[in-house]
Amino acid sequence: MQLETQPDALEALTEFLYVVPVGLMQFRMDGTVQIANPLAAQLLMPLAPGGDLTDAYSALSPLVPELGRLVREFTAPAGIILDHHRCEVTLGTRSSVLSVTVHRMHGRTNLIVLDDVTALVAQERQIYADRQRFRAIFDNVRDYAIFTVDPKGRVDEWNQSLQRFGGWLPEDVTLRPLDTFFTQEERDAGKMETMLAQARSRGSVETEGWRLRRDGSLLWANTVLTALPDVAGDVRGFVAVSRDMTERKRMEDELRRLATTDPLTGALNRRSGQALLTDAFRLPQRDDRQPGVLMLDVDHFKPINDRHGHEAGDAALCALVNICQAVLGQRGAVARWGGEEFLIILSSTREDEALSVAEALRAAIETAAIAIPAGRITMTASLGLAIGSGSPDALIQIADAALYAAKRRGRNRVEIGAPARAAKARNVAPVPASANPGTSTP
Ligand code: GH3
Ligand code: MG
Ligand code: MG
Repeated sequence: MQLETQPDALEALTEFLYVVPVGLMQFRMDGTVQIANPLAAQLLMPLAPGGDLTDAYSALSPLVPELGRLVREFTAPAGIILDHHRCEVTLGTRSSVLSVTVHRMHGRTNLIVLDDVTALVAQERQIYADRQRFRAIFDNVRDYAIFTVDPKGRVDEWNQSLQRFGGWLPEDVTLRPLDTFFTQEERDAGKMETMLAQARSRGSVETEGWRLRRDGSLLWANTVLTALPDVAGDVRGFVAVSRDMTERKRMEDELRRLATTDPLTGALNRRSGQALLTDAFRLPQRDDRQPGVLMLDVDHFKPINDRHGHEAGDAALCALVNICQAVLGQRGAVARWGGEEFLIILSSTREDEALSVAEALRAAIETAAIAIPAGRITMTASLGLAIGSGSPDALIQIADAALYAAKRRGRNRVEIGAPARAAKARNVAPVPASANPGTSTP
């Protein structure tokens, strides 16, 4: 730094040295300090041995003990001798970090630039610690697949769990849209776009559903998608955290199945049958449709047990439910009402339709050769039909009464309950009772 002789220039330089936010110290090759601005003095005075700032090598010795050697060995006419060398120092009770840069100026003068970078270093350390913490969570968390997603929904970064859960490889995933893991159905329905939009507007969105593994098999995953806004609030991307809940889902489904079905036949249990019928009454019905029920009871079932054993009776009940489900398809559901009695729920039906279903059931049961351990048997069933808009209980009572009428009138037949009977009785062909129920035909 060459001092100009004009008073104006000198004044300007002095002002510059005062206001510049770094410490500046110019020294000769022998260490003699030529200029030091107030900030350099303030930073170095507490450190320099004896507070003496006349010799740069001595003043800087606590920061850069090898400064003398570095300056001597630097042979170029100009350039950087020491670049942003950081030194941790204790000034009073406060620990600070100073950055020291030493320049060779035009030949044989050197300039030290001192900067207090304590706050910057603290920030850097915080960022580094945060990043390490994030990486540790990101890489080591085993139960969660974590991936960052760009604003368009393409996967940026992802952790090992994605591979463990789904068998996905880096090349399958990187920059592929998030819905790579969705089923075709959800892809077609624009599920990813909906999730991104919801996360954008609400901050985050949680979903559960079947997701694809690489091999095409499915896993049940819970996913929380969170938007990542920048300081201005603009969403710059998302992070998705996904958990494989397949086992829990299977257990829940199994528990639900156990709670809603009859363990022997797999039909709905009585409670679920009632619930389904109650739901049917809440359903809005179109045209002349109404809820309907069939009460079905196997004819002379006791002799099957007596003749072939309880196990054969069990097999016959299972076969009966299979026959009913096959005949019904989507038209109705079978619930075990108790023993060898079943409630068939037709959630939305008409009398002619219900009657033809009942007759189809009766005929299918009559003609089936039912496998039991000892061979094959035949059996028949009686059915009582009720349709109406009253209440589930009333409908069941009417169907029950119709069933007992069918029993009284000879079995293996369908009877329509009181409210509908007058209108539709003519549609029911009287069916003779099976001549020899429970006949074994091995
Ligand atoms: P009906 O034509 O009058 O209905 O005569 P039924 O013999 O079918 O009627 P009943 O009520 O006299 O007998 C029903 C039998 O069903 C008695 C019972 O042992 C048998 N049963 C009830 N539940 C089961 C079951 O889970 N397994 C077996 N194997 N038998 C059962
Ligand atoms: Mg019976
Ligand atoms: Mg019975």
